[in-house]
Amino acid sequence: MLRFNALNSVQNKKPLQVAENGKRSELFAINVFNEVAMRQLMTRDAFDAVMNAIEYGTKIDRRVADQVAAAMRDWAISKGATHYTHWFQPLTGGTAEKHDAFFEPLTRDSAIERFSGNQLVQQESDASSFPNGGIRNTFEARGYTAWDPSSPPFVYGTVLCIPTIFIAYTGEALDNKTPLLKALSAIDQAATEVARYFDKNVSKVTCTLGCEQEYFLIDRTLANTRPDLMITGRTLLGHEAAKGQQLDDHYLGAIPSRVLAYMRDLEQECLLLGIPVKTRHNEVAPNQFELAPIFGEANLAVDQNSLLMDVMRKVAERHDFVVLFHEKPFAGVNGSGKHNNWSLVTDTGVNLFAPSKTPQKNLQFLTFFICTIKAVHEYESLLRASVASATNDYRLGANEAPPAIVSVFIGEQLNKVLDALENMSGEEVSGKDKTELKLNVVGKIPDLFLDTTDRNRTSPFAFTGNKFEFRAVGSKANCGKPMMVLNTIVAKQLNDFKKEVDSLIEGGMKKEDAIFRVLRAYVKSSKAIRFEGDGYSKAWEEEAARRGLSNHKTTPEALRENITDKAIALFEGMGVLSKVELIARYEIALEEYVKTVQIESRVLGDIARNHVVPTAVRYQNTLIENVRGLKEIFGDAYQEVASEQIELIRHISEHIKVIHSTVEAMIEARKRANHLPTFVERADAYCNEVKPFFDEIRYHCDKLELMIDDELWTLTKYRELLFN
Ligand code: ADP
Ligand code: MG
Repeated sequence: MLRFNALNSVQNKKPLQVAENGKRSELFAINVFNEVAMRQLMTRDAFDAVMNAIEYGTKIDRRVADQVAAAMRDWAISKGATHYTHWFQPLTGGTAEKHDAFFEPLTRDSAIERFSGNQLVQQESDASSFPNGGIRNTFEARGYTAWDPSSPPFVYGTVLCIPTIFIAYTGEALDNKTPLLKALSAIDQAATEVARYFDKNVSKVTCTLGCEQEYFLIDRTLANTRPDLMITGRTLLGHEAAKGQQLDDHYLGAIPSRVLAYMRDLEQECLLLGIPVKTRHNEVAPNQFELAPIFGEANLAVDQNSLLMDVMRKVAERHDFVVLFHEKPFAGVNGSGKHNNWSLVTDTGVNLFAPSKTPQKNLQFLTFFICTIKAVHEYESLLRASVASATNDYRLGANEAPPAIVSVFIGEQLNKVLDALENMSGEEVSGKDKTELKLNVVGKIPDLFLDTTDRNRTSPFAFTGNKFEFRAVGSKANCGKPMMVLNTIVAKQLNDFKKEVDSLIEGGMKKEDAIFRVLRAYVKSSKAIRFEGDGYSKAWEEEAARRGLSNHKTTPEALRENITDKAIALFEGMGVLSKVELIARYEIALEEYVKTVQIESRVLGDIARNHVVPTAVRYQNTLIENVRGLKEIFGDAYQEVASEQIELIRHISEHIKVIHSTVEAMIEARKRANHLPTFVERADAYCNEVKPFFDEIRYHCDKLELMIDDELWTLTKYRELLFN
């Protein structure tokens, strides 16, 4: 049987030998066409043009583009590249590439390696086969990809990959990068303006991001015996193993040697590509691990995370593993997330979320800190929607970190600071109050919480010392989406803050007093979003409802928030996404939801009927054979002797019956859903009419797994998948 062959083969697998090819610092970014490479290989003019494009978004003219392309081509060929591709992130969430050779025939007998400025800067691409939410009709299927100079090209394998945006011929964004770049530009402008209240030398603010990537590694031969894992990325059935994570013996435990070889191999590949991987460790669930890079500029960090996931898949093949990015591959043990560590840093080198030693600077810290909390309060439902997917629902909607309710955790000490600000005596924060506040509250921030170890793991949005950590992002997600939303809402809030403070100043108030006054009002009005308790508890659900916070457990519900008047006004107002783009994205996300649930439903039906039921019948037949034999030997007394077997035979029949009828009912529900006219209705139907059958079918299959002779069971079991 496939399962036993697979189990046998795993016993003989050895860790792949991975050589360390020199010092890691020397490997770093050698396959990236970055500033160092450009300085060496390009003319001064070309170099300056690209640097200006990166810094200020200026256009690069044709002639210079040709020079840049030629330098890039020669460099890429020296690294072994034969092809180039515009590398982009369509709304599937993954990455897309189409390779073109540098090779070009000149005459019948001769050829050259060619790569022009035009080919670098812009390429036409058939947009009709990517999700476009009705923006494109197939008869005018042109879209194009355009070079994003702020993310450097790299050679991966034998291909020069050029990060690009992907837009429709009519100008609408068809990818995750385009709106992210707009949001990053919005936060740059808004945060720079506000930072200049405190330091006139600030002229640019950059968003930084560090993504902690969680994943499972499963032996490939074993995974291949599970059609559900291979097709949907998660197990649709399977009884929990006797041992899961209850002993807490996996987290930060010794890394298994085959896995360690994988990690070392992976890290070297990453370093060559300029991905600054730093941390590796065992996660909580068996066979679950984490990789964290050093944070970097958000656009690049998002690209690098997408690339990382590709590299992880490819390296896994070499090591005979399958890497699972699904948010909930196994019931009963932890799922996987991708914590997004987010911060803002000025071009003068100040992290705006890092408290400093001087009260003056801490007012700056408080300003950004409070404006972020206020933004999250105002738009919590959009943050929730930004991480909504069929696969992440199994995590956010269940009793597991973090909940579907967005709240902000800031720790006891900072709560005290905000409470003190809120509870100042007079109307105005001025005079004695202000001095008191500055000296004893704001001034003490660094001492107060640098020694705090108080960390709340259940919070979806937590302040962790000098950055916020958005933890609800799914392990499979493209971080571009949540980062786009977070930066847009904070930019909006900072703009509003600036307006309010400026108008007070125009009315004659001193700058500092005005800032205190507005912040104080924000602390009061955003209080409902602050929560320090247990995010999993029923009590919090009730409390959150009283506070008016949204609690969307499913994707169709959560996504609705993206097309409210408020959301459209926000994204249009900030110049990030138009109404047409928002509606298109809404449809695309719903369509993806429907397809994901549909595929799971089909696979579950198949496995239940074609694996579980036939196995159950086979075992039942042996039991029947056995009872017949006992009857022959014991005559009428057989009933007594064979009572256990007879009970089992009956139970097996009952489970088979329910499986059959439930699968039938599920198929009917699917048919009804498929006939509904709109994606909104279809998504709701898949969510509320189709998906609820999953648990029931699973329950009966898992019961059968416990009853049936292990020798007959075809599907590799949890204990085998998770402990090999
Ligand atoms: P943990 O949350 O597991 O305790 P760490 O404190 O080590 O993790 O940091 C997690 C991630 O946060 C890392 O990827 C790190 O690079 C990133 N990080 C640290 N400082 C910043 C920052 N200022 N901006 C963005 N990300 C940051
Ligand atoms: Mg973390």
